[in-house]
Amino acid sequence: MGAESNILKTLPKAVKLPTQSFIGGKHVSARSGATLECIFPGDGKVIGEVAACDEVDVDLAVRSAREAFGSGRWSRMAPQERRKIMLRFSELILANREELGILETLNVGKPIVNATNGDIPSAANCVAWFGEAIDKIYGEVGPTSDDLMAVVTREPLGVVAAIVPWNYPLSMAAWKFAPALIAGNSVVLKPAEQSPYTALRIAELALEAGIPEGVFNVVSGFGKTAGQALGRHMDVDCVTFTGSTQVGKMFLIYAGQSNGKRVSLELGGKSPQVVLADADLDAAAASIAAGIFANAGQVCNAGSRVIVEESVKDALVEKVTKHAEALRVGNPFDVETKMGPLVSREQYERVLSYMEIGVQQGARIATGGGKTLVESGGYFVQPTIFDNVRNDMRIAQEEIFGPVLSVISVKDAEQAVKVANDTVYGLAAGVWTENIRIAQRVAKGIRAGVVWVNCFDRGNMSVPFGGFKQSGHGRDKSLHAIDKYTDWKATWFAS
Ligand code: NAP
Ligand code: MG
Repeated sequence: MGAESNILKTLPKAVKLPTQSFIGGKHVSARSGATLECIFPGDGKVIGEVAACDEVDVDLAVRSAREAFGSGRWSRMAPQERRKIMLRFSELILANREELGILETLNVGKPIVNATNGDIPSAANCVAWFGEAIDKIYGEVGPTSDDLMAVVTREPLGVVAAIVPWNYPLSMAAWKFAPALIAGNSVVLKPAEQSPYTALRIAELALEAGIPEGVFNVVSGFGKTAGQALGRHMDVDCVTFTGSTQVGKMFLIYAGQSNGKRVSLELGGKSPQVVLADADLDAAAASIAAGIFANAGQVCNAGSRVIVEESVKDALVEKVTKHAEALRVGNPFDVETKMGPLVSREQYERVLSYMEIGVQQGARIATGGGKTLVESGGYFVQPTIFDNVRNDMRIAQEEIFGPVLSVISVKDAEQAVKVANDTVYGLAAGVWTENIRIAQRVAKGIRAGVVWVNCFDRGNMSVPFGGFKQSGHGRDKSLHAIDKYTDWKATWFAS
């Protein structure tokens, strides 16, 4: 066990660090007694331990979820009642915003301002949005011959396992559990090993709001044990996953090797920002910097490849570089900090290794390129821009998941679309041009689940989000998300 973090001494006493999983409405340790360490990425030191659940604990959680589903105490509760409870749940998340923000920052090192004013209210908003929707979703009556009537209803699937990453721990989880819950399912949520705190805390808030015990369970633990056990469980009806493409594919295998459960995947990306010569370069540069440096680049839809027309490339690189160099990197608990550390030592080493690979393959560092604030013991890197990148270089093809931008120049819009699509991913893209016809052509030509024209990373709960190609399938947010957690049932009545 490493040295204890100093940060704990400065935190308000009111913040209690979770240690146990939440199964059947109760705090429980792993049956084996195993725990995993939580580390504050700002100094690399241990802040606490939580239960490291394995297949025994996962089985208990799934049994509890199944029992709750079968009992009907949530699945058959009137939608109007569930709506009230979800709205109360959302209010409780907001009422505990400061505490949840601190827990999020302790786990993942994102600036406290972003956690408290961004991630947590956004999760609360998601819960309220789906809560509001719950009693406004109708079934159908099929067109049939006169002697028959066919009623087509949306049915919950049963037990939904949500496996989520560490980059936006609570809001990614909410994108999954909120639509799953409103549809009447029971949920077993497995947070990433780096970020269990907010998930464990909101399980208590869900119960306090009135979500009956057993309906919302949280198992902390490692992917290889707890995650895999959910993926392979014979009584889980659906896996909803956000994370890397590599692990997402494993869930398809787990499903095939167990009960053929439904799997929906929100995976990685290598999203292009196409900048054409007539673009508003100032607006594009500000948005490009935000799109790769926000959350220290640990964003699935990070705009990590700039594909720019040759004639404006140098001017654009200069402008984005200014933004990068003005970014204040530092202690995430400092309210002035704009970029905190990376989430873990593993991620730190991975991102630094990509900086070396970029240089080795012949790209030029325009700014950054290494570690910073080393004396802190935390996982800080510099906002980095690589110029003269070719799209076949590893830094242009592989998801780095850090604040590293690759700039690739092209001769025209047509070549830009080709390069934009020359990746296994298809999550998101940006297009910058003042010409509406070209904008439309380029946006149409790019194979991605989300395209932003003259903006980037905009969104709200009403619009679906998700990827094409190896960025996954199925959509989070919007009423379309409910498709993942329901099935249609046809009931025929003879007269
Ligand atoms: P990850 O390693 O794929 O982990 C995601 C989740 O899967 C974690 O809960 C993890 O648990 C679990 N897991 C890991 N190995 C597993 C295994 N063998 N079997 C079952 N479960 C396993 O991803 P990450 O490193 O946490 O997050 C970064 C990735 O998420 C990036 O690739 C990013 O693009 C993607 N992402 C996508 C979106 C989107 O909406 N498309 C949003 C956010 C992030 P442990 O933490 O315990 O390993
Ligand atoms: Mg991982």
